[in-house]
Amino acid sequence: MLTLRDVTVALDGTPVVVDASLDLPDGEVLAVLGPSGSGKSTLLRAVAGLEPLAVGSIGWDGVDQAGVPTHKRGFALMFQDGQLFEHLTVARNVGYALKLRRAPDTDARVDELLELVGLPAYGGRMPATLSGGERQRVALARSLAVQPRLLLLDEPLSALDAGLRERLAADLRRILGEAGTTALLVTHDHDEAFTVADRLAVMRAGRIVQQGDIAEVWRAPVDAETALFLGYAR
Ligand code: ATP
Ligand code: MG
Repeated sequence: MLTLRDVTVALDGTPVVVDASLDLPDGEVLAVLGPSGSGKSTLLRAVAGLEPLAVGSIGWDGVDQAGVPTHKRGFALMFQDGQLFEHLTVARNVGYALKLRRAPDTDARVDELLELVGLPAYGGRMPATLSGGERQRVALARSLAVQPRLLLLDEPLSALDAGLRERLAADLRRILGEAGTTALLVTHDHDEAFTVADRLAVMRAGRIVQQGDIAEVWRAPVDAETALFLGYAR
């Protein structure tokens, strides 16, 4: 379980995330939804250990992560551009971390992961031959390979066109469910948040202004601006 308590993050002296508190129970997907510049990526980077906290704490199962370096947190990160290793095949991309760990059953696990993301016959392909959506599926498979205790997704679908984004959002929901992954998804797209997540934290100007079950937030947006952002018609 991920716990944020009163987290404030300052970049060059400017508070960009202010007093953020949230709980993310195991196996759930939480979407942090907010407009551009609201501090979503900074919040995610702080959870990953890539930004120091000015105030507050980030805990995992009750253990403060303050002194824990990024690579020891057991979290995986996935960005808008999946950043594949261009000189390695799809299979080697997916199995990269497993190979590093000398996992004995890497090949079987890679097949299983490619199956999971809907690319069973793609192992031998090079990244340059893939479409944008296929690349993000490979990046997702690679992130899931190490069975992270928390998957951090920063706008993983936003580089894709609308139709593909919709389909991949539904797939992402299914894949995270099947893998039982706990995930924090950052997005500015309410449809994507509604499709993928169980719970929602709405962010504005560095603050979490509302959080709860998606249905709960949808039923009673905290203010007019939030309602508009959730997709209520003007
Ligand atoms: P987007 O949806 O566009 O990705 P975001 O919600 O992820 O936006 P962040 O990238 O977290 O937003 O940035 C939050 C705010 O912090 C922005 O207003 C940005 O201009 C500001 N910011 C980023 N870096 C610095 C910095 N070094 N000094 C001061 N402010 C910064
Ligand atoms: Mg961002």
